[in-house]
Amino acid sequence: MIRSLDFGAAYYPEHWPEPDWARDIAQMQAAGFTVARLGEFAWSTLEPAEGRYEFGWLDRAIDQLSAAGIATVLGTPTAAPPAWLTQRYPSTLATIDPQGHRDSHGARCHYCVNDPIYLKQCAAIASAMAAHFGGRSDVIGWQIDNEYNRVCYCPTCRAKFQAFLQTRFGDLDTLNRRWATGYWSETYSSWDQIAPPAHAVPNPGLALAWRAFVTESYRLFQLNQVEAIRAHVAPEVWITHNFMKWFDAFDHYALSQDLDLASWDWYEPLGWHDRFTSGAMHALVRGYKRRTFWLMETQPGHVNWGRSNIDLQPGQARPWAWHAIGHGADAVLYWQWRMALNGQEQMHGSLIDQSGQPRPFYADAQAVGQDLARARSALAGTTIAARVAILYDFPSRWMVEGQRHHGDFDYVQHLVRAYAAVAGRNITVDVVSPDTDLAGYAVVIAPALAAFTPERIARLAAFAQRGHLVLGPRTGTRDDAAALWPERAPAGLQDLAGCEVEEYFALAEPVAVAGEITGTADVWAERLRLRAGDAQVVARYTAGNGWLAGHPAIVRRATPAGSLTTLGAHFDGPTLSAVLERILAEAGVEPVLETPAGVEALRRVGPAGQEVLIVINHTRESQTLATPPGRFDVLAGEPVGASLSLSGYAVAVLVRA
Ligand SMILES: [Zn+2]
Repeated sequence: MIRSLDFGAAYYPEHWPEPDWARDIAQMQAAGFTVARLGEFAWSTLEPAEGRYEFGWLDRAIDQLSAAGIATVLGTPTAAPPAWLTQRYPSTLATIDPQGHRDSHGARCHYCVNDPIYLKQCAAIASAMAAHFGGRSDVIGWQIDNEYNRVCYCPTCRAKFQAFLQTRFGDLDTLNRRWATGYWSETYSSWDQIAPPAHAVPNPGLALAWRAFVTESYRLFQLNQVEAIRAHVAPEVWITHNFMKWFDAFDHYALSQDLDLASWDWYEPLGWHDRFTSGAMHALVRGYKRRTFWLMETQPGHVNWGRSNIDLQPGQARPWAWHAIGHGADAVLYWQWRMALNGQEQMHGSLIDQSGQPRPFYADAQAVGQDLARARSALAGTTIAARVAILYDFPSRWMVEGQRHHGDFDYVQHLVRAYAAVAGRNITVDVVSPDTDLAGYAVVIAPALAAFTPERIARLAAFAQRGHLVLGPRTGTRDDAAALWPERAPAGLQDLAGCEVEEYFALAEPVAVAGEITGTADVWAERLRLRAGDAQVVARYTAGNGWLAGHPAIVRRATPAGSLTTLGAHFDGPTLSAVLERILAEAGVEPVLETPAGVEALRRVGPAGQEVLIVINHTRESQTLATPPGRFDVLAGEPVGASLSLSGYAVAVLVRA
């Protein structure tokens, strides 16, 4: 069960003398906290010697929080194994590079994800914690580990990788054929010849399979603990993991399948965020489970790990928190509550300083707490409903970034351009897997969806019969072993698209296109060739552009109840915006609200269809916008007239009056 708008922080009571806790918790209560996250790095305190569990202190902390109306999310502490464990069982430490260097104690996430001893130790601590705390109704959810990020190259991982390949490909002939290993005499005659990728430019098939193996490894690592916890907790207690930003060492969709709830940690070291990049990240996490999520960590002012760690401006915590909620967060938690006296994150932002007193940011957090208290009932049970989807795919990203061809072809930035072209109109966008159900969408955009499988081709073709499909450059070039399709892109969809890619070019300078759309491509351009008489050329590359001059750059073909548009280039924002504007209008997709630049309007929808509009002024200046009739601002506690004025960084949450 997901509560409405939880608010809190990570709290490490083990860092502080027990008499301090009462003051800490009273100040949490005064900030409007409803939840605290505990335990995630406390293994050496919870199990100071092998098999000797000391849970009493954590019970007392949860008791005190509970008495103040603050629920607990418990983290399993497996990101930080204790020294007794890594000393007694050195195989648990990760081998950090293909050259065989083993990590040492004193970091975090420095474990081997496949080591059988480590998996046993993780199951033991997770199981002991769940058996002890699982019956408590004030422990509402569990977080497995913290920010998975390490890849291991030890002999165990290498052997498991070989076994994984054997399961995936069946026999070596198949693997050799799919990876085209005859190239550079890579042909394998025995499974144990296959090593993890160790070179700057590995065989693309090997590189892709390694990522799939890392995904499988973390999935099993996580499942080991999910099962240990599930055995002891009530069905309504959820289990999550806190993912990181655009991190891509494994396929997050696969790991999310075993979780009840996705969550993530949003940090901006420069204290500034491009709201389209952050909006796309929130949408990405929302897409992992195709439901609302938790913002498990965000910065109370500043971080400590960037090159320069700039603070948020006074008052900026509100638009920051509401931006997350408007994109589907059901909770906002800061990291962390109180700054520790020592340790690697000594200078990180927190709400309370080392003396136990509020830092300046505390007042801003308190204002967010007040907002959430006012809006909690209005937002209960609400979710995000989008008619536009952008497809994000880990294998496609790995393939594109493994061979960018142009150093500036960045998969994520390319995707964010498409996202901004839609979200910049205050149109709600989902970011989802290409393997998900596309029913319910009117427009689907596939930027650089390199990896095509027969299933994906069929799903996209079916969608294009009734919706508006937009294929970006580099789409439909590779199969699921990273091999080129032995036909021109977009493989399997050329007939429906009415065009195919004749050649691709890394661009030395921007190239103009003209026709029904006038605009500019940068970084990458494809020369399209028409295949159908009824395919419509929306734009051509202009004269003077070498191999591209005069050839189609954007092709559209109508389908029985939709269309398929092929974008043959990496277009700049205004060009993408112009192309997508026509498609969105044709699909009848409406913006949430019209707003001035710098003001974002987001919508959450309740189970009975009730609409909550979240209007955010991301700028420091006052902004005014027209509002629909009959609205009430639950934050201001008053009805709204025909227009709404928002001071710098102000937020309004509008329900029907
Ligand atoms: Zn390993």
